[in-house]
Amino acid sequence: MACFSQTREERVSKAAEALRDKLIAQRRDFHMYPELSNREVRTARVVAEKLRALGLDEVKTVVGKHGVVALLKGAKPGPVVAWRADMDALPVFSSSDKPHKSKNGGVHHACGHDAHMAIGLATAELLAGMRDIIPGTIKFIFQPAEEGAPRGEDGGAALMIKEGALENPRPAAIFGLHVFSTYPSGTVGYSSGPAMASSDSFSITIRGKQVHAAMPHMGIDAISVAAQCISALQTIRSRRIDPMEGMVLSIGSIHGGNRSNIITGEVKMEGTIRTFSESTREGVRTMMKHTLAGCTAAGDASFALDFDGANYPVTVNDAALTAESLPQMRRVLGEANIIATKPVTGAEDFSYFQKIIPGFFWFLGVKNEKLGITGAHHTPEFDIDEAALLPGVKLASNQLLDYLERHR
Ligand SMILES: [Zn+2]
Repeated sequence: MACFSQTREERVSKAAEALRDKLIAQRRDFHMYPELSNREVRTARVVAEKLRALGLDEVKTVVGKHGVVALLKGAKPGPVVAWRADMDALPVFSSSDKPHKSKNGGVHHACGHDAHMAIGLATAELLAGMRDIIPGTIKFIFQPAEEGAPRGEDGGAALMIKEGALENPRPAAIFGLHVFSTYPSGTVGYSSGPAMASSDSFSITIRGKQVHAAMPHMGIDAISVAAQCISALQTIRSRRIDPMEGMVLSIGSIHGGNRSNIITGEVKMEGTIRTFSESTREGVRTMMKHTLAGCTAAGDASFALDFDGANYPVTVNDAALTAESLPQMRRVLGEANIIATKPVTGAEDFSYFQKIIPGFFWFLGVKNEKLGITGAHHTPEFDIDEAALLPGVKLASNQLLDYLERHR
């Protein structure tokens, strides 16, 4: 039987295939010129130029430093939906020997945000060629500084929101993806509800009283108090949080003292907390204060606890939005390739958008053992199987169209 009208998914698929080479070339371009958080000058220029060349209806730059927000209005009336792609790279040396390896020494797209932008731009291009069937408006949000703004600077999703990224018009829902180095290329992982942890960086200063190491009773040993504090802080995880509840408290750095015969009066520590619920997150912060207060009081020392780094809420996928999005994803990638996974302890500032509107953030597998692409995120070896990019575009494009059609 001849079929005279192609389905929407067939049309998307065909249009995506036509963009394959451009998509890979665009990812390689971003890969060659990575820029750090809040320094995405070239990256933002490339993104804005491409979006303008596509004839999008509005392309706003400098939203939250180097953020870009663009609107694509469909030919038919309908709701507004958003797609988000992050833009920044990391201060990591690349071990790649590929011709398109980083030309910016010591900076590497070691988290795959280059792929996110390439998929975002290809999706915008694909949908710009289909305005005739779009019932509503698509907002593309290209977001800088996902990895955290440099100390003392604002940035990321929170700053874009503050500067109006979710207003005029406000999207009814937001979607986004992250490439994932432990899932095979051609698969997608997702969690409904909590999907990624909250992240709170903290610093602790323990203050005692410096003294000659031969006369400890004359001073207050900040190192010995710090040691007790570390042990006590670890009992928050082991003794005070429900064993079935995900939570991590790690101290990643400790510094104090400068020679063998001086007892130091000050120790500084830094660490991070990960949780999967806002109530646990708040609870842990309070328990830390109480624990430090008790430990330092016992040793006649004092403390300061600051949550001053890049602190992200829990990434919570809206259950209804996730459920209604899955059938389409299964049709595009095949039932067996859309896999329900456990939440991960990494964090994402996509969570800030989800605090305001329902969102669904999923993981696109990019591992390919045959090609030796197995490097973990944030390492010199991190790379992606570029064959995963095209399914990413098909999924994203269908996801946005599907949402608009369901909610028109
Ligand atoms: Zn990332």
